[in-house]
Amino acid sequence: MIAAAGSGQRLGAGGPKAFVELAGRPLIEWSLAALADASRVERIVVAAPPGHDVELAGADVVAGGETRAESVRLAMEAVESELVVIHDAARPLATPQLFDRVIARLAESGADGVIAAAPVADTLKRAGEGEAIAATVDRSELWAAQTPQAFPSETLRRAQAAGDLEAATDEAWLIERLGGTVLLAAVDEPNPKVTTAADLEVAAALLASRRRAGR
Ligand code: C5P
Repeated sequence: MIAAAGSGQRLGAGGPKAFVELAGRPLIEWSLAALADASRVERIVVAAPPGHDVELAGADVVAGGETRAESVRLAMEAVESELVVIHDAARPLATPQLFDRVIARLAESGADGVIAAAPVADTLKRAGEGEAIAATVDRSELWAAQTPQAFPSETLRRAQAAGDLEAATDEAWLIERLGGTVLLAAVDEPNPKVTTAADLEVAAALLASRRRAGR
């Protein structure tokens, strides 16, 4: 499932982010192409912006909701498979191999979820009043959560029904709150999230370098 129902306000492109052009294609098409090449993906469901009537080759399109978590919940109604992998259209660099690895790890581990993630590289500060540093946070155990995130479909539906969707910034958290075990799968290639116009340029440069390397 691809969450693609965001408005794209922070990108300032005048339309939904998932349909902004990146290296000659709408942003979402990079994720659709990677999912089409993943050997463990049977069907693709896309949560599109409500009222944004689109057809996407190879995917079933449903209307998303007000928040990302609500979009994913709505799109889950169209999912029939035992396992589901959720991906943000905003991460166009996820590879077919990453999708397959996350799904395989879920199937083999029997965990309640597996998410793509990267160890945090920056030194982290907690801000206090007036932007004075209140503390330096030990980063040795910290990872940045990304997508794809894979779950048994029923486990995710239960967590969505029980959870506080308003506060959820990813699906893993809904499952963690219920005491579920969610595993981290370290990404081995950059998988950045496109939020601003500058992020779009970084993503284009990374895609160009992959193309030059013949990948
Ligand atoms: O806004 P943000 O970049 O955090 O969104 C992450 C992903 O969630 C994007 O791919 C966006 O299209 C999607 N989204 C959604 N429904 C919303 C808001 C965001 O599917 N209401």
